[in-house]
Amino acid sequence: MSTATSNHAEANPLVEFQHNLKDACELLRYPENVYDFLKEPIRFLQVRIPVKMDDGTTVTFTGYRAQHNDAVGPTKGGIRFHPEVDADEVKALSGWMSLKCGIADLPYGGGKGGIICDPRKMSMNELERLSRGYVRAISQIVGPTKDIPAPDVFTNAQIMAWMMDEYSEIREFESPGFITGKPIALGGSVGRETATSKGVFHVYNMICKIKGIDVKNSRVIVQGFGNVGSYLALFLHEQGAKVVGIADANGGVYDENGLDIPSLMDRRDSFGTVTHLFNNVIPNKDLLEKECDILIPAALGGQITKDNADRLKCKVVIEAANGPTTHEAGEILEKRGIDVVPDVLANSGGVIVSYFEWVQNNQGYYWSEAEVDTKLQEKMEASFHKVYNTAQEYKVNMRKAAYLVSVRRLAEAGRLRGWVS
Ligand code: GLU
Repeated sequence: MSTATSNHAEANPLVEFQHNLKDACELLRYPENVYDFLKEPIRFLQVRIPVKMDDGTTVTFTGYRAQHNDAVGPTKGGIRFHPEVDADEVKALSGWMSLKCGIADLPYGGGKGGIICDPRKMSMNELERLSRGYVRAISQIVGPTKDIPAPDVFTNAQIMAWMMDEYSEIREFESPGFITGKPIALGGSVGRETATSKGVFHVYNMICKIKGIDVKNSRVIVQGFGNVGSYLALFLHEQGAKVVGIADANGGVYDENGLDIPSLMDRRDSFGTVTHLFNNVIPNKDLLEKECDILIPAALGGQITKDNADRLKCKVVIEAANGPTTHEAGEILEKRGIDVVPDVLANSGGVIVSYFEWVQNNQGYYWSEAEVDTKLQEKMEASFHKVYNTAQEYKVNMRKAAYLVSVRRLAEAGRLRGWVS
């Protein structure tokens, strides 16, 4: 089935994507050529980026850009800077972006990029040179009507600003629509920074209503305290939920009385590191097994596997990260009656407001925060209901339903163009 190769010994994300895709194509009774059309990116570029380091040496980094499918429109998706980035992960993430854009009805296919590096160990100058080098290396295949990057794990508005500037230099005209997640001063959208968290927050409220969980007294664990996890923990805390667990890359902290999220927000660093402030830090995987109503993985993929799915003590999992639950774990959770709100729905707030940013760049007319917020909430609610109703109709879980919704749209666009039958 797969041509996947990866460092991920346990759960190869591309195999995960292809497994769920195959299931959806079979449920929809599509001919094999639809699966074949969607199982891998239409375009995949590997680049090598030599960077002059501050100490005078030169290091050559490896980066990737995957464009999953452009039947619907230009491809769209973030760029991740992380030591564990690998080719199959980037390919899978681009496929998930196609699904995400499909559910939210955005005129895009999915894309994704990544560079194998550890930005925690690099200076700002080194990061700037790496970001500019990456844009030079991929500039032929990206652009405001081709493939539009954005932030992802360990990248931020400053990095988007350098990338936009480099692209504009290459093209010799100002190109704000080349990339989203930019600083507001350079054509970014109000509300983009908190968009993913706000989207997850809306999903949280909708699923709690369905499950009869009182949001005000709900107990939640958020794994990850980066851009997504930290704001999400804050919004939930402000709404009256008890955030009983948080984590960063070094471990987790659990307190059944609830943690003081506003104070942690003030004290986190730019990579979301906070656990050094505590002396009762537990391993990240132990935190996932602590008692709560809602468990929200908001960091990296492959966290909930067949090895721990049996031991989770939550009622619902909301996937704020991309790919945190393997399909085997999903089956165990389903048997246990634990609902999973899948990543491609739950964390789509980021790309939704990225789309708003791109529309504003194209219009040259900028919206108010209230307008962005209202439109985001409308899109999240419509997406949630579409997936939830499809799940009821086909009697499948929400992940399968999410695939059904998006695969139908991709296949229709492919069919209309004459690419599949
Ligand atoms: N990196 C984010 C994601 O995984 C946002 C992508 C975008 O805004 O294009 O959804």
